[in-house]
Amino acid sequence: MAHGDVSAAEWAAIVEYFDGRCAYCLRVLAEDEVTQDHVIALVRGGTHTPDNVVPCCGRCNSRKHSKLVLAMVNVRVQCHIKTSSGPTASGPPSSS
Ligand SMILES: [Zn+2]
Repeated sequence: MAHGDVSAAEWAAIVEYFDGRCAYCLRVLAEDEVTQDHVIALVRGGTHTPDNVVPCCGRCNSRKHSKLVLAMVNVRVQCHIKTSSGPTASGPPSSS
């Protein structure tokens, strides 16, 4: 499955680091409200390690995922258009 692991102690330290708040809306969350969210989604090559996991409320968790996917698609499309337009920005070599 996922690479890496986050122990209960590490997770507790992460939540404490974020002051017990959601990493996105910064709301103080109840213990049973906190979910683990991957900064870099596992499907994008992220790891299930302490440096890639942040506390997140259920609302932001579901919101962010759809947003991120859409943003990702847009970026990919833009990059593809840019790179496929040809290397005209580098300028022609001047020889006279
Ligand atoms: Zn939130």
